[in-house]
Amino acid sequence: MLNIVLFGPPGAGKGTQAAKILEKYQLIHLSTGDILRSELASQTTLGLEAKKYMDKGELVPDSVVIGMIESKIDSNAGAKGFIFDGFPRTTAQAKALDEMLEEKGAPITMMLALEVEKEELIKRLLLRSKESGRADDQDRSIIENRIKVYNNETAPVQGFYEAQGKYEGIQGMGSIDDIFHRLCNAIDLKK
Ligand code: AMP
Repeated sequence: MLNIVLFGPPGAGKGTQAAKILEKYQLIHLSTGDILRSELASQTTLGLEAKKYMDKGELVPDSVVIGMIESKIDSNAGAKGFIFDGFPRTTAQAKALDEMLEEKGAPITMMLALEVEKEELIKRLLLRSKESGRADDQDRSIIENRIKVYNNETAPVQGFYEAQGKYEGIQGMGSIDDIFHRLCNAIDLKK
């Protein structure tokens, strides 16, 4: 199996690149942000509870997102692999993911981390806000908070994968196709 963690701050291009990678390598896309937004659209209890955190740019509790990912992995038995987008966002989530995948005998292959400068992130997110309709993209202070939360709570996840020799930094500035080629080169070297 090819199990990839696509990592990077909000606005790094994870969703855009995940769509291209999963098409090329036939992987299942697991985006916790997308799953939470679809729960919210269906007005489930989980979605309505998560909204309180999402609207402020805070993280939804670990137990909620870990449970969500576990059930998605279980319901996709037989998949060629997964691309994890926006997960894990804390070291506790990364540990839980390792345990889940260990049970299946299919560990994380690599973490691909998109590296983008802060001003470029804010520019991209404000641009995206015009099309995405996402409440958390509309306000510069919520965007700034998401980047702060990323730096404080999520950035340490890099060290978790570095310690396993699985971290790969990818230059995330430039055209979508150029970045995609860099990602494919890194994947093909590990496959
Ligand atoms: P995203 O679409 O990945 O930018 O996620 C949007 C929002 O959903 C985040 O700002 C968090 O509030 C929540 N969220 C998504 N993934 C996670 C996660 N792995 N852990 C905690 N909260 C998450």
